[in-house]
Amino acid sequence: VWNNCLEFIKDNIQPQAYKTWFEPIKAVKLTDNALSIQVPSKFFYEWLEEHYVKILKVSLTKELGETAKLVYIIKMENTYGNKQPFTEKIPSSNRSAVKSQEVDVPFNNKNPELRNPFVIPGIRNLQIESQLNPNYSFENFLEGDSNRLARSAGLAVASKPGGTSFNPLLIFGGVGLGKTHLAHAIGVDIKDKYPEKTVLYISAEKFTQQYIDAVKKNNRNDFIHFYQIIDVLIIDDVQFLSGKSGTQDVFFHIFNHLHQNGKQVILTSDKAPVDMQDIEQRLLSRFKWGLSAELQNPDFETRVSILKNKLYRDGVEMPEDIIDYVAKNIKTNVRELEGAIISLIAQSSFNKKEITIDLAKQIVEKFVKNTKREVSIDYIQKTVSEYFQMDISTLQSKTRKRHIVQARQLAMFFAKKFTKASLASIGSQIGKRDHATVLHACKTVDNLSSTDKQFRKYVEDITKKLSI
Ligand code: ADP
Ligand code: MG
Repeated sequence: VWNNCLEFIKDNIQPQAYKTWFEPIKAVKLTDNALSIQVPSKFFYEWLEEHYVKILKVSLTKELGETAKLVYIIKMENTYGNKQPFTEKIPSSNRSAVKSQEVDVPFNNKNPELRNPFVIPGIRNLQIESQLNPNYSFENFLEGDSNRLARSAGLAVASKPGGTSFNPLLIFGGVGLGKTHLAHAIGVDIKDKYPEKTVLYISAEKFTQQYIDAVKKNNRNDFIHFYQIIDVLIIDDVQFLSGKSGTQDVFFHIFNHLHQNGKQVILTSDKAPVDMQDIEQRLLSRFKWGLSAELQNPDFETRVSILKNKLYRDGVEMPEDIIDYVAKNIKTNVRELEGAIISLIAQSSFNKKEITIDLAKQIVEKFVKNTKREVSIDYIQKTVSEYFQMDISTLQSKTRKRHIVQARQLAMFFAKKFTKASLASIGSQIGKRDHATVLHACKTVDNLSSTDKQFRKYVEDITKKLSI
């Protein structure tokens, strides 16, 4: 009976959909007019009910008559696709080998309990919504030497998602240089050209959170299934996955599945793949399969055109020389450039002042100062001791306990790196040590961060905290 149904279904839906949603189903038993089928997850069942209930009904009534009933048996197994066993380390309590649950669904009875959607937090929404920001379009992404390669690769991907050799497309570059904007632009353009495609934008951080929740709730397979039906997956800031081996593992499998099925993957990162740390080798090598395109600091002309575009869109007029002044003086990144112009506009309209070169100077100065603000030795000591959850006095004390010594050495190292203070002055401020001790501390930190993974993580974490 089921085979006949399948044949009928196969003729009436997309081959890919058939493969995804019907091939994994097993017919288990047939009693009178009720056919029991086994599906891999509750999510799967929900999906069938939502999208294929009509065709299931038609095919089954053809076989069993008007009184036909379908019983779903949900059977979650710890292997995926019965092929690749997962090496994921789920706590053993969650490893309940097989879960079985029977759901009896008469076609004409909309049992409210069963209608109750199965919600993986945050995921259900994403099924419908691409999470794309329409303002982040290609049109608004001004071209310049700094982004030409990445931008045109993005355009190529958008016109043929999954059909170019740029798969994955990895966009990398520093903060505020337009990675997120460009990633959205590609998605927005694809949605425009191929409205039927499922596009999903998600930050690596959110992806990780969803994954952790899914594992907690024993929904790991559902999580994977969800991601495997996406046509264009955009993951922003993949450097966030560093050190998170569980998430990397699941992403690896999702990536492979998408890639094998000709789906497009777009990634962004603050570093080139070669410079990424604590990302599994096999994942890094996948990242390099397609194209890695860098976003660099925009040159002066590009900065001017970005500013002009922004002003034009906001309907604000501004004298050329002021635009030039801002563009000349703010070079770090586009976000700051926009920030400066926004506060310039705000200032002038608040105080009903005309936008003059003097006003521009004041504001630009503030911006430049804020970003290059020197960190003080006190601030470093405070940050380091907070990071290790100890008091500053402990950090400065004479103790030789290893973790305290390490914290102290780190504080000295950062003081050397981020301030202009002399070794002697650093020593006297951090627990009354001499310059030789500080020098030794700097060397030790250098050595340890190249040999000791954990230690390197300390250095990275604290660097991040200090450079906010
Ligand atoms: P990142 O993700 O690399 O940190 P964003 O994509 O968030 O950077 O960009 C920061 C801001 O700069 C955003 O408002 C974005 O619209 C703008 N921006 C970046 N590059 C460009 C560009 N080439 N043209 C126009 N706006 C840009
Ligand atoms: Mg970003």
